[in-house]
Formats: sequence, structure tokens, C-alpha cells
Amino acid sequence: MADKSILIVGGGIAGLALRRALRRRGIASTVVERFPDGGRSGLAIHLTGNAIAALHLLGLGDGVEQLGRPVRHREYRNETGRLLCTMDEEAMWRPGSRPRLVRRSDLMALLQDAPGGGTPSRSAAVEAVRLTPEGAAVTFADRHVEDHDLVVGADGVHSVVRSQVLGTAGTRSALLSTASWRGMAPNPGVDCLSAWTGRRSAALLIPLSDEEVYFYASSVDGGPVEDDPAWLEQTFRDFAGPVPEVVDALLAEPSRLYHSPVTEVRIPAWSKGRCVLIGDAAHATAPVWGAGAGLAMEDALVLADVLSDTDGDAAGPRFEARRRARVDHIAKMTDLTSRGAGTPAWIRRIMLPRTYRATYGPMSRPIELRTPA
Ligand SMILES: Cc1cc2nc3c(=O)[nH]c(=O)nc-3n(C[C@H](O)[C@H](O)[C@H](O)COP(=O)(O)OP(=O)(O)OC[C@H]3O[C@@H](n4cnc5c(N)ncnc54)[C@H](O)[C@@H]3O)c2cc1C
Repeated sequence: MADKSILIVGGGIAGLALRRALRRRGIASTVVERFPDGGRSGLAIHLTGNAIAALHLLGLGDGVEQLGRPVRHREYRNETGRLLCTMDEEAMWRPGSRPRLVRRSDLMALLQDAPGGGTPSRSAAVEAVRLTPEGAAVTFADRHVEDHDLVVGADGVHSVVRSQVLGTAGTRSALLSTASWRGMAPNPGVDCLSAWTGRRSAALLIPLSDEEVYFYASSVDGGPVEDDPAWLEQTFRDFAGPVPEVVDALLAEPSRLYHSPVTEVRIPAWSKGRCVLIGDAAHATAPVWGAGAGLAMEDALVLADVLSDTDGDAAGPRFEARRRARVDHIAKMTDLTSRGAGTPAWIRRIMLPRTYRATYGPMSRPIELRTPA
């Protein structure tokens, strides 16, 4: 594909990772992004060990090790603070690919600006995509049309590329929780990933530093997560430990709180003709196992590997054949965990360590690339 024109729609994690992965193989591409500063909010993102491994393959291993803080272990508790189980993240993942919590804006800056990433993103919004015998015709918001040999939809959960080329079916609200609250608060002394689960809702705390902690709240039974911050106060005021303190700090400064729907994409095909979907556009999954960023970057690495020796209509099916099993595994484990989230604590105490190992064990094995990244 080195002499072909590749358009990547979306300059999020998947799009920027693909641009970099292609560039490292001597293949040029153009990224178009509708928001010039997309993803630059101050919120944090949890990177699983395979996400860190993918960043190493993108030449960004040293860069990510400078960001945020490693996640060394996890603690799962009920709402009274009773410890159900702990998991050792250092034992789960290979040395050099330990999970971290980083600021999302820092991750985006690393993918966007680190040397060797390719030409900067173009600011433009795609409105329509039509397959042609030679590639795809792309219409932009300013009505101009461009022809490209390959169009990659890296445009997230509400992908225009997906709906235009593969249809609108296949999105749904997440089983665990149809929406979530997130925010960054002063750290009251949290030193590991800690999840606090009640009968109907859960709070997750992960330290970004000794000063700052990431907060994520959801229901655990698919019940409503109202977009009024008062929901947080009502839901978590009787939780033990640091949860109410963090909620109070966030409610004192509601501009630091973000409410967002959690939508999933489950579709039977990720490509058609000269159009391929990667990242959330292909397979957005509720962040139950915090795996979306890792899957998006792995997609980018594998698609770049495929494109280094495959032209035309064969690229999409080859990419998909190499990625389905790993992505479907996370979707399956997400559904399984979501269905079991509201079960009594004694069952969760037995099941959680098993589910943790069953989810991340396969993900700790490296992805296979035919030629070095
Ligand atoms: C509440 C929540 C919490 C999460 N927490 C985690 C976590 O801790 N760890 C983790 O690994 N994952 C997490 N995820 C999932 C993770 O955020 C996604 O998997 C990841 O961002 C996917 O990257 P992407 O590039 O595919 O999509 P996106 O990050 O959505 O990027 C898509 C980009 O495309 C652009 N775009 C869209 N339409 C157009 C258009 N028409 N024209 C031009 N540009 C366009 C958008 O502006 C955006 O910049 C979370 C998800 C949610 C909803």
C-alpha cells in the first residue's frame, strides 16, 4: 500500500496509533479529526498491560513510562469496605508491560506529537463515505469530495464511516451500566486500583499520583445513572472508606465531573470493499476491564502489518481474521462480568479472581506481527 492514498477518519487513540504504525513501515497516511483538541480533557485512562505492550511496539514505551503511575495491584471491596479479594497486576503482566493510569491528554499528546508519528492531523469532519470500484469517495462537512484507495474508520463509537458503509445496526447500551460518571479529585490516600461495589452501583478509584485520584462510577445492574450530580451523593453517601470523601470533593467542583453514556458496538463485519473499521468504531465495549485503548492500538499495529503486504479488498478480511478472537474474548468477558456484578459478595469473592485471570491471561500474550513493527 506504500504508493496508495490511505485516509484515516478520526484522530483518537486508534487513528493516531495507526498513522504511527504505518509511518514506521514507510507507509504514508492522512488523519482527519473533527475536533482539533479532541480527547484533551484532564480525565485519566487506565492502560492494561497489553496497551503498554502496544505502545512499546509503536516506539512509545519510554514515553508512556514517564506518564501517570503504575497500577501494581487491585482491591475489590463491598460497600461496607470489606475486602473481597486482591489481584497482583505485576504477576499478571510481563515485565515492561505493567498497567498504568495516565492522563488521557498526555496519552493523546504522546501519540500525536512524539517524533516519528507522521504528518499532523488535518482538521476536518467527514459526513459521508461511498464505496467505489477503486476505493472510496469521502464527502467532508464543507461539501468537498476526495477519492482514496483505502478509508479507515477510526471515528469512535458513533462512527459515520460504519453507518455509511456497513449500516446502522449493532449498537446497544452496555449491560452493566448505560452511563457513567468520571472525575479527577484530590487523592485521600488511595494507593492501588480499588473497586467498591454495592447492590446497585459501584465506584472505582485509581491513583494518578499521591495528589490526584481518578473516580469512575456506574450502576451494576443496568439501572439508571442520572445525569444530575445529586445521583452521586444519594448513591454513595453510605459507602465506607474514601468513596464519600471523593464524591464530596467532586460535588464541590462539578465542572470536574463528566457524565457519559456507555454504548457498545457488536457487528458481524468490520470491513467492506476498501473500507476498514478499527477501535471503538468496530467494537466499542463497556470499560468493565478497561481494555478499549489497548484493543484500539493493537488493531492499528495489526492493520499496519496487513497493509505492508496486502492491497485492495483483501486487507479488511485479513485484518479481521487476525483480530476477531482477541476482541471477542474481551466482549465475552465483559458480558460475563456485567451479568455477575450484582451477585452476593461471597460469590463475587470466589468468581472475581478467576474472571480476572481468565480475562487478562490471554491478553498478556503478545500480539503476533508477521514483520517487525
Ligand atoms: C466512560 C468510559 C471510560 C473508559 N475508560 C477506559 C479506560 O480506563 N481504559 C481503556 O482502555 N478504555 C477505556 N474506555 C474506552 C476507550 O476510551 C476507547 O476504547 C478508546 O478511546 C477508543 O479509541 P478510538 O480511537 O477507537 O475512538 P475515540 O477515542 O472515540 O476517537 C474517535 C475520534 O474520531 C473523531 N471523529 C468522530 N467522528 C468523526 C468524523 N465524522 N470526522 C472526523 N473525525 C471524527 C472523534 O472526534 C475522536 O477524536 C472508556 C470508555 C468510556 C465510554
